[in-house]
Amino acid sequence: MGQRSDCDGLVVLLGAGPGPATWLTLAGAKWLSRAEVVIYDRLVRPEVLALAGPAVEKIYVGKTPGGAGPDQRWINDLLIRRARAGQQVVRLKGGDPLVFGRGGEEAEALAEAGVPYRIVPGITAALAAAACAGIPLTDRRYASTLALVTGRQDPTRDEEAVNWQALAGIDTVVFYMGVSNLPEITRRLIEAGRDPQTPAAVVALAGTPRQRTVTAPLAELPAAARRAGIAPPALTIVGEVVCLREKLAWFEHLPLFGQTVIITRPAHQSAELAAPLRELGAEVIEAPAIEIRPLEDFAAVDEALRRLKEFDWVVFTSANGVEAFAARCRHLGLDGRALGAARVAAVGPATVKALAGCFISPDVVPEKFTTQALGQAMKSAGELAGTRILLARSDLATQPLRQLLAEAGAEVQDVAFYRTARAAQLPEEALAALGEKRVDWITFTSSSAVDNFLALLAAGAGKAAPGLQGVHLAAIGPVTAETLRRHGLTAAAVADEHTAAGLVEAILRAVRPAGTSDRQDQRE
Ligand code: SAH
Repeated sequence: MGQRSDCDGLVVLLGAGPGPATWLTLAGAKWLSRAEVVIYDRLVRPEVLALAGPAVEKIYVGKTPGGAGPDQRWINDLLIRRARAGQQVVRLKGGDPLVFGRGGEEAEALAEAGVPYRIVPGITAALAAAACAGIPLTDRRYASTLALVTGRQDPTRDEEAVNWQALAGIDTVVFYMGVSNLPEITRRLIEAGRDPQTPAAVVALAGTPRQRTVTAPLAELPAAARRAGIAPPALTIVGEVVCLREKLAWFEHLPLFGQTVIITRPAHQSAELAAPLRELGAEVIEAPAIEIRPLEDFAAVDEALRRLKEFDWVVFTSANGVEAFAARCRHLGLDGRALGAARVAAVGPATVKALAGCFISPDVVPEKFTTQALGQAMKSAGELAGTRILLARSDLATQPLRQLLAEAGAEVQDVAFYRTARAAQLPEEALAALGEKRVDWITFTSSSAVDNFLALLAAGAGKAAPGLQGVHLAAIGPVTAETLRRHGLTAAAVADEHTAAGLVEAILRAVRPAGTSDRQDQRE
């Protein structure tokens, strides 16, 4: 039925998984990238929505845990209307669309209306909890049967939705939407014959860096969850398999689990830092303090590029510099050969990588990735007196490198190839996390990120700006650490190797000896 096509549009009922975009299927990412409108629910994370691109219309139709929100019929009509208007509609739901997600009702409405649809599964919360709390839902030794159960009664149905007698005979039982009903759920299960000592767990925010797990015998679980302050979204797992968690828990033991880290570098560069931090278990909030922008006036750049052959050295102190250099060369119809015999110096691995993208391998890369070390390395590579050097840098570049080269007798031309501008504001998510005192680390990969982040923080969305008490600051190198010092702040971690990887390493070093408990489990 769903495929009869009297309509150009299409609705994709799509499961977003339990939260982080990394849990989305490849099919899900593909449909999101093609969407013209995304109609989404409450538990969908911004980073998943972002895969649809900034220009795509996004309509929020979430319901609160109490069920308040747009009427289901209104949502069905919206899907039908948009598809009939010829749009590619993604109906995005947390977890899986067909597990307590009303995907079935929506598909039925589309089928009846003759609107084509697809259904793309997502990782349902029970599977995320199983994997990330270390609780296999089935296991040859303990559990051959599994039930997924709603912990909330449908108020419009008179008869009992859950057959408790039958449930008491199922080995593993997972309750969705049951946090507030937990006392009732455990009482009914025990009355139906389940042993009060059965191992049980509540897993909140499963599969996310803020996951929390509480384990207790069934009869004691409600009190244990209340004491731990567990709040939705959470689910309850009842069964012998919960015991396996003792051996199998791994997610909460990741070295940066429980740490919230803000990244302040420009959006197009934050992945290099965000990905390894997330793999180590951290919650990462991207809050770019600066944006890299093209110049308004290219006269100086064009002049330098046309005379490129006259330089003995071209020096790059950032990947951004390389990219801006290459883009302008392309604009002027120049290619790599325009460099002629000039030697090329690069400050560190990210710059080297950007150069490699232009088929250029630098002649000099210092052992320590600072501009100071770069100047020294160039000096060691040969006599600089009388040479002509082009520094392809940002409008905010500092003076020491220029000075060092000039003192060595070189004729230095320092040309800004791109602008560093302050971001318009910090994202609400970052300000909220700071306000709630949830932030453990802020990383700075340049002095301009420090200056601009602090200025944006002071502007703090017009409200009382959140402070930085209790927040650890991490700097990519001594220059950035010194900038922090000038603001009266101390870096708790400074990278030895001045790269994203070095910065992650420095945070790890600072976190580990602090003796943060390896075991986050709150066993009762
Ligand atoms: N379609 C979703 C379920 C929606 S019902 C899915 O397949 O996962 C909402 C309930 O799902 C919540 O009340 C909670 O019980 C559960 N849930 C959703 N995300 C969760 C998460 N990350 N951790 C634990 N439970 C979650």
